[in-house]
Amino acid sequence: MSWLRRDVLLSLPLSVLAFPLESAKLHAESSGAWRLTEDSEPLVPDAKLRRQIFRALDAAQDAGTGATISHFKVRAATVLEIAGQEQVVLGGNTEYDLPEAIHGETSLLNHVTADYGAEVTRHAVRFIAFYGDHSGGAGSCGDCRDFQMASTDWEHLLIVSGQSLDHTVKVTRFSDQIVGERSFPEVKAEEIALAPGALEKLVKSAQEARLGGVTLFTTFRHTGAAGLAYSEKIYRAAGCDDAAFHYRYPIGGLLQQAQTERDYFLRAIVVSGEQGQWPVINYRDRQYGYEASSFNHEVGLPPVKLILTNGQGQYRMTTFEASLPRAFSTVNFRPEAVKEFLQTHRVDR
Ligand SMILES: [Zn+2]
Repeated sequence: MSWLRRDVLLSLPLSVLAFPLESAKLHAESSGAWRLTEDSEPLVPDAKLRRQIFRALDAAQDAGTGATISHFKVRAATVLEIAGQEQVVLGGNTEYDLPEAIHGETSLLNHVTADYGAEVTRHAVRFIAFYGDHSGGAGSCGDCRDFQMASTDWEHLLIVSGQSLDHTVKVTRFSDQIVGERSFPEVKAEEIALAPGALEKLVKSAQEARLGGVTLFTTFRHTGAAGLAYSEKIYRAAGCDDAAFHYRYPIGGLLQQAQTERDYFLRAIVVSGEQGQWPVINYRDRQYGYEASSFNHEVGLPPVKLILTNGQGQYRMTTFEASLPRAFSTVNFRPEAVKEFLQTHRVDR
């Protein structure tokens, strides 16, 4: 944790903000002491739900974690009503090996499913409460957004952040973290500021990429993506599935290729799906794009353009920043490390 600057804490995701500051003392003081912030009150008009939220926050303090790499403890809980009985379910993050992790939100929802079944997860989970020492401001990582959308009644899901230092409780809608592809602004080809011919080249490259990849389990939504770097090189990738269900996403794939060549700064990424359809951009893939765009930001370049084609000459264009609201990147955690990394690794072409 030595690299963690206190002044960046407030920009960290709420799900990673959970330091065990004087936890025993706070635990003793916390019961019944939680209070909603003023702007959170309208989201929880129901007194019973408020009580359940506070009960979950009390419980989340004791959630076990294995944050061996980052030392960020993500402690989550919810309270469910099963056959008239309230049940508390906990979740915690576990990190392993190369920086990988089971995340707090997905851990919690998986525990609900393991205990009560997928239908209960979809219909009975009304909120996910995080216990931490700051209320933070960021939402879930992209992958956890995908998982919450797939497993819960996400349009009604509330996200709760209980701040141990002053016992304030901030409640937001999970749906605030979601931006559907249909709301990406439609643009005409000539409004996309790229060199002449570049858009056509990217579209063709993404469409060709989509012919490949691995689709042994993927029955729909197969996509290809092509990215144009400031070096003027194009990198491309298609989605690849595998038996372990460690899906590899196209944007993540092309960025890995570019970054392998130390080509860290991209102008634009085009994603192509089935002819005549708008491609779906998973939130996990948006996270990869967001992190890459934060490199641009670090050196004063504009955000990476995210362009969707339906294969029929129509386009939607946005940024990873706009498509992943309340996101976080390594820049939030380790701004100096990112600066130094880019200085020592970038190759100016
Ligand atoms: Zn996550």
